[in-house]
Amino acid sequence: MNDITCKVLVLGGGPGGYVAGIRAGQLGLDTVLIEGQKLGGCCLNVGCIPSKAFIHAANEVDKVNHFANGSALGIKVSNPEFTLSKTVEWKDGIVSRLNTGVAGLLKKNKVKIIEGWGEMQDGKTCLVKTDDGEVLIRAEHVILATGSISTALPNLPFGDKIVSSSDILSLNEVPAKLAVIGGGYIGLELGIAMRKMGSDVTIVEATPSILPQYDKSLTKPVMKRMDELGMTVMLNAVADGLNNKGDLTILDKEGKKQVIKADKILVTVGRSPRTEGWGIENLALDLDGRFLKIDDQCSTSMKSVWAIGDVTGEPMLAHRAMAQGEMVAEIIAGHNRRWDKRAIPAICFTDPEVVSVGLSETQAKEQGHEIMKAEFPFMANGRAMTQEDETGFVRIIARKDNHLILGVEAVGGEVSELSAEFALAIEMGATLEDIAGTIHAHPTKSEAVLESGLRALGQALHI
Ligand SMILES: Cc1cc2nc3c(=O)[nH]c(=O)nc-3n(C[C@H](O)[C@H](O)[C@H](O)COP(=O)(O)OP(=O)(O)OC[C@H]3O[C@@H](n4cnc5c(N)ncnc54)[C@H](O)[C@@H]3O)c2cc1C
Repeated sequence: MNDITCKVLVLGGGPGGYVAGIRAGQLGLDTVLIEGQKLGGCCLNVGCIPSKAFIHAANEVDKVNHFANGSALGIKVSNPEFTLSKTVEWKDGIVSRLNTGVAGLLKKNKVKIIEGWGEMQDGKTCLVKTDDGEVLIRAEHVILATGSISTALPNLPFGDKIVSSSDILSLNEVPAKLAVIGGGYIGLELGIAMRKMGSDVTIVEATPSILPQYDKSLTKPVMKRMDELGMTVMLNAVADGLNNKGDLTILDKEGKKQVIKADKILVTVGRSPRTEGWGIENLALDLDGRFLKIDDQCSTSMKSVWAIGDVTGEPMLAHRAMAQGEMVAEIIAGHNRRWDKRAIPAICFTDPEVVSVGLSETQAKEQGHEIMKAEFPFMANGRAMTQEDETGFVRIIARKDNHLILGVEAVGGEVSELSAEFALAIEMGATLEDIAGTIHAHPTKSEAVLESGLRALGQALHI
């Protein structure tokens, strides 16, 4: 057996693990990273990147189909065609480039990559089964970055026509009929994309609204668009199982059984932290519900055992995992760091997109703030008009006493690109006057942020 000793061992090469590895390497720490599947984890291989590639392709298909009927712009196309297998090939190409890129970055920073499944033997030792035999790694510090897996429904286990988000991103043909169980961001992003690619889509959501954690005013335009696209959305409806013909049965809001015919059933009812299969039983780790318990330095209940990313809790997002990874590497290198982020942006890449950073109006009030707020609609934004994309608005929520910005929300086309300004404003403690005093380039959608700041101060110029 091969023995390796190092300063830092990272278990898992997703966005949390690989960023921790790169930063540890940059800081001169002797680092080994173990990855059992593919570098980049869920995010790069079956999550953020491939889903956004799909969404882009779907939007292009939608655009071309729109032009097939002629348009106000004077563009008309005839006989557009779409081949999903080509899209999948293109998406796989992007994933492969990024896989190679991550490996290159790790190598450039002298991080040793071990390909194989690792099992912790104790808080300092990990046994990895590789194609060339077993490797035993001893480390001073261990960073657990094992991520998450798709949650299955007991009555609809994955297999055959019941698919996970990972499976749907590799289909070669668009299913004629698709049922999506779960109206969270993953289900809606993929459901809308598949509809645009030609599927007849039904969304089945157990709660009274889609994207339940978002304010209704933000999700209403998404509901409207899904209706325009001809999608069926069933709220307060619970997936029951398959009947003897293999069709999906659900209990609707009146508790009545309904049958939905579907060629594929996409189950997107959340993700579960990967807390099994890597030797957790050999460690003495405290849990926080179903997640590994961490403190504000991502330290677990065991000394020099750290945990980051999806395995540590909500929000299960790649940018949170990466920020934790970077912080932990610096703490191990002796830097004085603590998790004191003011906001973690949340984005739904639906149509239209939804962004929420910081506190919503309800959350701000629940926390006892007296607030002021203002909205600016894209209908009054010149850039939005030139893009035929006037749906939605930007909303700013600020403290009444000192105008400190507590939250910014938006719904509209490509508002994901505005999220960085929202996050920067909150992280830097910006006030309404800071937003109002910053020149926003014309013509851009970001002017809606400026105008909502001005509007909150009673000084809006373009409405
Ligand atoms: C369809 C979809 C779309 C998404 N879209 C977005 C988005 O737009 N934006 C966003 O921020 N987030 C998005 N996410 C979530 C995002 O992918 C995750 O939050 C992120 O990947 C978590 O990173 P991580 O490093 O914690 O874990 P993961 O990405 O899950 O990586 C963990 C890695 O560890 C490896 N591993 C685990 N155990 C072992 C072991 N014992 N030995 C060796 N290797 C091991 C796994 O193979 C895996 O590669 C999406 C997820 C899905 C499913």
